[in-house]
Amino acid sequence: MRLSQAHIKTLREAPSEAEIPSHVWLLRAGMIYKMASGIYGYMIMGWRTVRKIEQIVREEMDAAGAFEILMSPLQPADLWRETGRWSVYGPELWRLRDRHAREFCLSPTCEEVVTDIVRSEISSHKQLPLNLYHIQTKYRDEARPRYGIMRSREFIMKDAYSFDLNAEGLDESYRKMFDAYTKVFTRCGLDFFTVYADSGAIGGKDSEEFVALCDYGESDVVYCDACGFAATASQSDFKDAPASPSDEALEDVKEVYTPDVKTIEDVKNFLETTADKTMKALLFVVYKDSEDIGRDTAGADAEGADANGDKGAGVYEVSEYVCAFVRGDRELNMTKLVNALDVSEHLVEFADSSTMSEETGCVGGFTGPTRLRNCKIVVDSELVGLKNLIAGACKEGYHLTGVNYGRDYEADIVTDLKLARAGDPCPVCGAALKASRGIEVGQVFKLGTKYSEAMGATYRDEHMEEHHIVMGCYGIGVTRTMAAVVEQYHDDKGIIWPMSVAPYHAIVTLAKPDDEAALKMAEGIYEDLLANGVEAVLDDRDERAGVKFNDADIFGIPIRITVGRKYAEGIVEYKLRRESEMKEMTSADAVALATETVRAEV
Ligand code: ATP
Ligand code: MG
Repeated sequence: MRLSQAHIKTLREAPSEAEIPSHVWLLRAGMIYKMASGIYGYMIMGWRTVRKIEQIVREEMDAAGAFEILMSPLQPADLWRETGRWSVYGPELWRLRDRHAREFCLSPTCEEVVTDIVRSEISSHKQLPLNLYHIQTKYRDEARPRYGIMRSREFIMKDAYSFDLNAEGLDESYRKMFDAYTKVFTRCGLDFFTVYADSGAIGGKDSEEFVALCDYGESDVVYCDACGFAATASQSDFKDAPASPSDEALEDVKEVYTPDVKTIEDVKNFLETTADKTMKALLFVVYKDSEDIGRDTAGADAEGADANGDKGAGVYEVSEYVCAFVRGDRELNMTKLVNALDVSEHLVEFADSSTMSEETGCVGGFTGPTRLRNCKIVVDSELVGLKNLIAGACKEGYHLTGVNYGRDYEADIVTDLKLARAGDPCPVCGAALKASRGIEVGQVFKLGTKYSEAMGATYRDEHMEEHHIVMGCYGIGVTRTMAAVVEQYHDDKGIIWPMSVAPYHAIVTLAKPDDEAALKMAEGIYEDLLANGVEAVLDDRDERAGVKFNDADIFGIPIRITVGRKYAEGIVEYKLRRESEMKEMTSADAVALATETVRAEV
């Protein structure tokens, strides 16, 4: 590519909304462009990288025995009704109607469609196992699209679906996909680990996530150096810390005047105690499940929609109020709470105390478990064994001391609600856990027969007996992987692409484009690189050398060959983007070295 013809524009500064390195650099390099919130296009260099990641994915999927197909992103609602996910998926599902008012959605994932295909194509045990995948644009109307292509509303995903005779077959398919994913992310240059995960709206039991380490990742991951255990903080089981010494005598409950003492921090300071002697209350409203949730109801009555509009327009009926309690120094694990309540996540919402104070008696900043009514009380298991805690009195300006489980309050549900964090004991071996942040780039699920049962996908065995097909599903966020790579490979000057996913391998920078002889030499190097299979860019723009060097750094192309000051002596400068050192050599040597480096690293 000749840059003079491609007219790629780099930006001096990223728009202020770009908060994280991948968002900043992909915008500044002109690789992505924003069309609307969470909706991006890919420009010349950005699209090349997307296609390289896709190609790596394709090669590893094919090598693992999967077959590529293409399913439409436009999916009829009726298929989603068969599995019940038309309502379960909630407002993230992008719904629309055709001219005959028939309902469709834009695919966020393809279990329904692929199961529909397989139930019509597969009937005999001889046709299994089968693994079908595609690389397709997905749509999710995320509540909070952010970080550019990291969490967007339209993104490219590779999704694969395995179909097996039985659970053993599924184990084998799952293992193959797990291994293929390990190869994909390794080839993309990512530093990642795998964790057991919550399988969310997709359902099923066994699932692992591939998490790329990055400072701005949305997953908190805890891991154990001692035994190799790793899990997302929200999924990690917990070894309860030992309760207070059992010989501690039960105190009487006392009401203390605590004006303006609302947070755990305030309570700690005012009552001169430690946070682990207090109880933290978190309020939630659970809504009734309804087909209306998330339906495209433009112009519909918005009454009842929550204040921040997370649920889109629609009418919501409260199913129940919930108050969850954890020890004051702990954080609540939302996944565990939702699982304990046994409802879909999108039906559970944080509540302002004023929304539910009349019905339940809670008081903002002063909510405790002893005087609540009409409210499901969910208590973290750790609290049951702790004595003489401090809790809100459900009365403005008052707390209670000497609060004990069993004597002073009881729970509707006692369960582990804690978010794991660094220093907590490893659930496997008890050693102290470490914590880090990461972003999920891929996930593998054992679905079992959830979808084949709901949709009637069966096969006949050799005795003509009918069985449900056993399924797995496997996703890779192609465009999110691109963002994760930039998160791990950048400096303060721009991107530093690993060779395997770089849009181009080498850039030939012509310092003085108006010098005929220098131009000729640069063109010669460019042609030689292309002839050797090195994907090259020729920066022949009419720009100052400084501008070109800055742009080359922003683009992050791994090898730069500069035709500069010494070109008349046949000498060029050779520099790797990831190193600061620059070498001088003949143009022939530069071409040879570049060729060798690319062959070794791709
Ligand atoms: P998350 O928990 O981040 O919302 P998910 O678990 O809902 O993701 P999956 O259904 O497992 O996502 O989708 C498979 C892959 O698609 C994910 O591992 C991720 O890489 C990618 N992905 C999911 N949502 C988005 C998004 N909004 N933007 C970009 N990529 C995404
Ligand atoms: Mg996932």
